Amino acid sequence: MRVTFPRLGTMHIFCKAIAETAGIPYLVPPMTSRKTLALGVKNSNECICLPFKVILGNFIEALQRGADTIVMVGSGPPCRLGLYDLVHQVILTDLGLNYRWLTIPSRLTWAAFIKNHEETKLLRKELTPRNYLTFPYALYIGWRKMLATEHLEKLAMQVRAHEVIRGRTQRNLQHALRILDDARGGKAIKEAVREGGRIINETEQEPGRRPLRVAIVGELYTVMDPEINGGVEQRLGELGVTVTRSSWFSTHINRSLGLGREHKRERESFYQASEEYLGYDVGGECNTSVGEAIIRARQGYDGVVHLMPFACMPETTAAAVLKQVSKDHHIPVLTLTLDEQDVESRIQTLLEAFVDMLLWRRDKGLAAA
Ligand code: SF4
Repeated sequence: MRVTFPRLGTMHIFCKAIAETAGIPYLVPPMTSRKTLALGVKNSNECICLPFKVILGNFIEALQRGADTIVMVGSGPPCRLGLYDLVHQVILTDLGLNYRWLTIPSRLTWAAFIKNHEETKLLRKELTPRNYLTFPYALYIGWRKMLATEHLEKLAMQVRAHEVIRGRTQRNLQHALRILDDARGGKAIKEAVREGGRIINETEQEPGRRPLRVAIVGELYTVMDPEINGGVEQRLGELGVTVTRSSWFSTHINRSLGLGREHKRERESFYQASEEYLGYDVGGECNTSVGEAIIRARQGYDGVVHLMPFACMPETTAAAVLKQVSKDHHIPVLTLTLDEQDVESRIQTLLEAFVDMLLWRRDKGLAAA
């Protein structure tokens, strides 16, 4: 057995930690590249959303390199993510690739439990008693690594806006994440976080700078994966902007499991704010995108960047509503629709123009205090 999973942001760090700690052989898919995207595009329906194509490309590359078991998260309607696993399996089978499939349900229901039981029938025969015994601890280590990764990324988001040498924070963040990736066990993770924090904080900073504040909202895959969004978070930071986002692995996992009071409260506040414009749950992150933009306007943010994949149903709705939110709540919103043809120069130009406009608003006293 050789397990693989989608390549999404820093997800490979904690997935790897779980597999390694439980002694389960794994293969991290290669970093998402033009080739990954080309494989996904070639083998998908052109109308399907971008994350579907990228994840398909990840799976094809991983299977071609020797993985044989795919672990994928599930979801429910109305978003297409709920059908990803079914359609991916049909395509991979048509391509003649051999694989076993395991869907991690987004909600613990009887139907999900039965499906999971069926899917793991063969896999269970290959797992050893050691795999079973260490699995709970492996999940704990994976969770710790996920929180540690997010902590370092959040720290970098603050530091980047003040950096003197462009790109230095990103280099230091990558260094810190490599140390964390290599850490084995709880004590080593704690030490890696301390060391990583020190490395990021060592970035030369200009203390007097007054960065703009921008929130990134939108479809979770495009928000969390810099390979797909062309590094929007990093680019904004390097333009002197402090970036905030509420989409993290931990927030989504907590939401699925009904845990994390603080995240729950924050998400509820986004939903409540969105009710001014949306009378029901549109699906995906639509309500959250709209509600978060309103809350950030109330908090005095300078702007909102809304990320959406081309052909994404919920975020197309959000994009239309956000135009009105922008007028009503006096907050500039830049919607970036990402597709397979995207070029980094287009994203950079749009972000530079957006930041220039935000600075102009601030100079004219038009921005929130
Ligand atoms: S939220 Fe949008 S991009 Fe994501 S799966 Fe649903 S339709 Fe596709």
